[in-house]
Amino acid sequence: MAADLVLLGPPGSGKGTQAARLTAKYRIPQIATGDILRAAVDAGTPLGQQVKAYLDRGELVPDSLVVDIIRHRLAEPDSKQGFILDGFPRTVPQAQALDALLSELQRPLDAVLYLQVDRRSLLDRLSHRAAVDQRSDDRPEIIAHRIDVFLEQTAPLIDYYRQQSKLRLIDGTRPPEEVAAAIDEVLRSLG
Ligand code: ADP
Repeated sequence: MAADLVLLGPPGSGKGTQAARLTAKYRIPQIATGDILRAAVDAGTPLGQQVKAYLDRGELVPDSLVVDIIRHRLAEPDSKQGFILDGFPRTVPQAQALDALLSELQRPLDAVLYLQVDRRSLLDRLSHRAAVDQRSDDRPEIIAHRIDVFLEQTAPLIDYYRQQSKLRLIDGTRPPEEVAAAIDEVLRSLG
């Protein structure tokens, strides 16, 4: 299967878990801007130095930086087979930039999978994750802020992609295997 997909959902909705599974199953790369940015911070590159403060505060990094990352990443040969964008786009301008880029490449998105999870469940999940992964942005007040940032800046993408008839809703509160089955069902329907 070749598919160009976006996984959309609030922090803690399970995007990363589902993207990793799809990558293993369909052999198409997961492109996670959060992972790329954290790797840059850990490596101390100029990009990393530029974005560290945003990540630590739970704020979005400037659109131009992540759009550049995606432009370069989509030029890599492995994404010819398809891609799963995880954590990008996160703002309307990012979505518009992605549309422009994909139209240049003549490969429109096949679908945007939106993992729906209520705020209470997100807070529970992320506070558990905080206990194990030691991410600097998994402190309680930063977690709550990341969810607010999602609601303000990223949730408008739900309508953006609904208007393009690309949006597919997935109930993300269910166990990971059930979410995975729901995603597979959607992908089958894409043909
Ligand atoms: P989560 O979805 O759990 O918050 P991510 O790993 O996707 O985790 O993102 C972590 C942080 O990386 C965000 O809070 C933000 O600072 C930055 N980031 C990731 N993707 C983007 C993006 N597309 N635009 C702006 N900032 C981003």
